[in-house]
Amino acid sequence: MSTGTADSAENRPATNDDADPESALATARRQLEHAAVHLDVDPGVIERLKHPTTVHRVAVPLERDDGSVEVFTGYRAQHDDVRGPYKGGLRFHPEVSEEECVGLSMWMTWKCAVMDLPFGGGKGGIVADPKRLSDGERERLTRRFAEELRPFVGPKKDIPAPDMGTDAQTMAWFMDAYSMQEGETIPGVVTGKPPVVGGTEGREEAPGRSVAIVAREAADYYGYDLDGLTVAVQGYGSVGANAARLLDDWGADVVSVSDTGGAVYDPDGLDTHAVPSFAEEPNAVTEFGSDAPGVDLLDDGSDILELDVDVLVPAAVGNVLTADNATDVRADVVVEGANGPTTFAADEILAERGIHVIPDILANAGGVTASYFEWLQDINRRTWTLEQVRTELESEMLSAWDDVRREVEARDVTWRDAAYVVALGRIAEAKSVRGLWP
Ligand code: NAD
Repeated sequence: MSTGTADSAENRPATNDDADPESALATARRQLEHAAVHLDVDPGVIERLKHPTTVHRVAVPLERDDGSVEVFTGYRAQHDDVRGPYKGGLRFHPEVSEEECVGLSMWMTWKCAVMDLPFGGGKGGIVADPKRLSDGERERLTRRFAEELRPFVGPKKDIPAPDMGTDAQTMAWFMDAYSMQEGETIPGVVTGKPPVVGGTEGREEAPGRSVAIVAREAADYYGYDLDGLTVAVQGYGSVGANAARLLDDWGADVVSVSDTGGAVYDPDGLDTHAVPSFAEEPNAVTEFGSDAPGVDLLDDGSDILELDVDVLVPAAVGNVLTADNATDVRADVVVEGANGPTTFAADEILAERGIHVIPDILANAGGVTASYFEWLQDINRRTWTLEQVRTELESEMLSAWDDVRREVEARDVTWRDAAYVVALGRIAEAKSVRGLWP
């Protein structure tokens, strides 16, 4: 196992065009620089925040079911912990890289700070395709990864959570492996666990719920009635389906949703509860659309981004709104459900066109906020009801929304810059009062 600061990959300068999809790190750094000009913060602090504190790189050997041994590479990027322990997901995906982990860990720092949670940012994962692994192999890989990361994680140090390719079961294995070695049950080492071992109610729905709350507030702010608000949602997975169904329940007309198979459209509003989500039935959106009366299929799933709706929610993957299609977006408000769906170039085009983009670090922060609730329950050994989680989430989201709205109004900046200003202001102040030591 080796540890150390990030190598030259994370020092690569960001490019100015949109020809290649931007890396999460390039986007995160450019967003940081863009927002920093609005704040009177020591440039040394901004420079420091462009780099992670540490990136742990570990070799994770796995005995495959056929008896052979394969060694996987795992990472844990720890960006900044001035406000509290590092917090962020662990993904199992073939394209996990050090650079990606660093960029995503930076976003977690801003996300926790904008929500005023007592956490910093972390992100990690294993370069592996979980679909190629049996359940037993995934369990052994997770347990060994937990052991390799054991010196660096813990409820007061760094608290992982599920992400792409990992789930509540993965977190239960991680927590068990860590606890066995520590000699006591320590549920607070990870969040996103099944409730029976210290997970919280409402964690799964929380990111989609926060997207819906923020979309509702944004619509109200710009003078739209929620009743009849037209909404399109790209990506009908955990975030997209939960957001769409809540907005539908609150009176909005969700006219279009999509998954990897394509998009469906109904100008009168879809019955979102009748459309199966990705977890319930992958690629089911278009199968639903081919049978349902009054529902059309869009020729190209990406057309959903160009529909004339009040609110567009990209909730699938990153880099879908680019310099190529930003001029064709016809929504008035974009609420980012996915992490990093808008490239830096697209962001500038949308701002010039007067389209309001509510950023991911605010809109989908319900996930990490519910994780914070889980961590509180674990360290207090006291469980909350689903109603308590929903009430607290509503209150935390409204408070963060108000903090960001005040900056939008006071500084006449975009919602993304305002969210960064809130986050950076808190981080810089914490750094200032803690001081540089020695
Ligand atoms: P998911 O796997 O449950 O669903 C993703 C959905 O997107 C699926 O319906 C899939 O078919 C669809 N999709 C993928 N590529 C697409 C494309 N090119 N066009 C249209 N649809 C496409 O994933 P999720 O958990 O809902 O996460 C979605 C996004 O939200 C990711 O960016 C993730 O990082 C982010 N996010 C997730 C959470 C969480 O806790 N689930 C929290 C915060 C942010």
